[in-house]
Amino acid sequence: MTLDVAWAVDWTRRTAEQVAARRVELTELDRQIGDGDHGENLARGFSAVIARLDALEDAPAEVGDVLKLVATTLMSTVGGAAGPLYGTAYLRSAKVTGVDALDSRAVVAMLEAGLEGVVARGKASPGEKTMVDAWTPAVEAAVAAADSGADPAAVLAAAADAAEAGAVATIPLVATKGRASYLGERSAGHADPGATSTALVLRAAADAAG
Ligand code: ADP
Ligand code: MG
Ligand code: MG
Repeated sequence: MTLDVAWAVDWTRRTAEQVAARRVELTELDRQIGDGDHGENLARGFSAVIARLDALEDAPAEVGDVLKLVATTLMSTVGGAAGPLYGTAYLRSAKVTGVDALDSRAVVAMLEAGLEGVVARGKASPGEKTMVDAWTPAVEAAVAAADSGADPAAVLAAAADAAEAGAVATIPLVATKGRASYLGERSAGHADPGATSTALVLRAAADAAG
């Protein structure tokens, strides 16, 4: 599929469906190392996103319009760390997309902007057991795929694969950012909720493209 505005809408709807389907799982992960609300936070945010999308009088014209709607809705409806983190990621991503359908380079630019947004907002580095540990390998894999001539859908699939592996790789880590850091060594042994939801978001993008 062409990575145009229809793709962006489909990505968003698939994300909302998956967040709803995995709400309990995400909350359970956050119960282990946080305050047990990550699934609820994202489910509230993405159902508001879908409500706003459905209420638009005119269909969004560009990929960036969809990403901006997601960003502003998550910022205003998701309490907790994830709202501003995802909000900033989507807002930065929206800015680098233009009127054209995304080619492989544009997919890379979009993902790089998302990671930059998360880091600008949360100041976490890789290895601190946060969503950065899913975003960082996803961007690296997207760059490598684009460099080897992969098409946009394959770039997204490579990013999703790497994000999923990155989320699993947070299991043994000790958290040093976010609420999970309050647990110290006891945060080891569970996957980070935000890294897990990042993998979900990127998988939805790849599925919508495939
Ligand atoms: P809260 O922790 O406020 O309850 P959520 O439960 O919705 O918010 O989100 C928790 C997730 O946010 C964590 O699993 C982690 O991935 C992410 N997170 C928290 N702090 C940071 C940070 N400083 N940088 C990047 N990600 C972070
Ligand atoms: Mg929480
Ligand atoms: Mg909370």
